[in-house]
Amino acid sequence: MKSINEIRADFPILRRIINHKPLIYFDNGATSQTPMQVIEAIIAYYSYENANIHRGVHTLSQEATDLYEQARIKVQKHFNARKSSEILFTAGTTHSINLVASGYGALMKAGDEVIVSASEHHSNIVPWQLACQRSGASLKVIPMDERGVLDLQAYEQLLSERTKIVSVQHVSNALGNIHPIEAIIEKAHRVGAVVLVDGAQAAPHLQPDVQALDVDFYAVSAHKMYGPTGVGALYGKEELLLQLPPYQGGGEMIKEVCFEKSTYADLPYKFEAGTPNICGGIAFGAAIDYMHSLGMTEIADYEHELLVYAIEKLKTIKGIVLYGNEDLSKRTAVISFNLKGVHPYDVGTILDKLGIAVRTGHHCAQPIMDYYRIPGTVRASFAVYNTFEEIDTFIEGIKKAQKMLS
Ligand SMILES: *Cc1c(COP(=O)(O)O)cnc(C)c1O
Repeated sequence: MKSINEIRADFPILRRIINHKPLIYFDNGATSQTPMQVIEAIIAYYSYENANIHRGVHTLSQEATDLYEQARIKVQKHFNARKSSEILFTAGTTHSINLVASGYGALMKAGDEVIVSASEHHSNIVPWQLACQRSGASLKVIPMDERGVLDLQAYEQLLSERTKIVSVQHVSNALGNIHPIEAIIEKAHRVGAVVLVDGAQAAPHLQPDVQALDVDFYAVSAHKMYGPTGVGALYGKEELLLQLPPYQGGGEMIKEVCFEKSTYADLPYKFEAGTPNICGGIAFGAAIDYMHSLGMTEIADYEHELLVYAIEKLKTIKGIVLYGNEDLSKRTAVISFNLKGVHPYDVGTILDKLGIAVRTGHHCAQPIMDYYRIPGTVRASFAVYNTFEEIDTFIEGIKKAQKMLS
């Protein structure tokens, strides 16, 4: 792997000075930073390749189409999908989940059930509430314990032939817990239910293999994987995508249109109405190339070292409350904590004065915060460009915040 200094040099934003301090960017769970390799792909696209795809006979359009479709193949290979037509480009995880939930909202009926978990991001709760309202299906929730670990026994009791879809996250954005999705998928399939996995927080750190998991749908966002915002992907098994009604109507998603009836395009285009985020798709492909240039296991191993180091140091701070699974082998590099008697927002504000970017609040997972009866947490989440020295500065910053606030 490249040295940490070489990696950091790929990310221009890491040279920024924030509040007179070098930026320490620990908000990777919200969005990761973008390396030059991806920025250059974006510049090249708009400088030399910009055209609408799949329609023009002219050379530029064909070139843009090739680049976009090559990016789809990169996503396919990365997640080990059987076919590139099982990869839909979307605007991101939220869009991906809404696409599936909207389809099942039309396919389900009263008496059917959807299962989510107590640990979900709002993106994997609200679309299912909407689908249940439309169809008359009901929503069930897998409970979690105080570590945020899902109760698989309770899950088994929720499962029945009424279960149509189970939609769970792979990794918690609020706590970093890696959930046992292999077992969740296997048990769901035994009752004939379909499984969607929200992989937004897993894909930057692990390399999910959709065939090995036998998952039915897998949703990701490029902007958490060193790519741009506004683009992501949905993997879906071909036979399920064929059954699912289209999400949006428009250009590019049809075979033939007449006022009586339209017929839809083949996969994946049936789900890609309108002009897509062409540049975003191409840049997503460049981000995947970038991750592979570092090595997926190398990224995961290094981030795990950062996690172990940070947790050990944090544990020495008196009055700190750490959330999430204590078994760090079941965690990605996300750390949620509070200082006793101090509001997380105030900690975040003081850290920002020191140039340290963390997230504070409910992290779009209010049910988790309700479980702990807290307004939110401070969340530090690491990426491959973070360093042990940055963690030392962060620890000093927390101690300083604690002194000032208590
Ligand atoms: C970020 C995130 C989402 C939403 O992703 P968008 O890119 O905002 O659509 C959903 N689920 C999890 C677990 C996330 O971390």
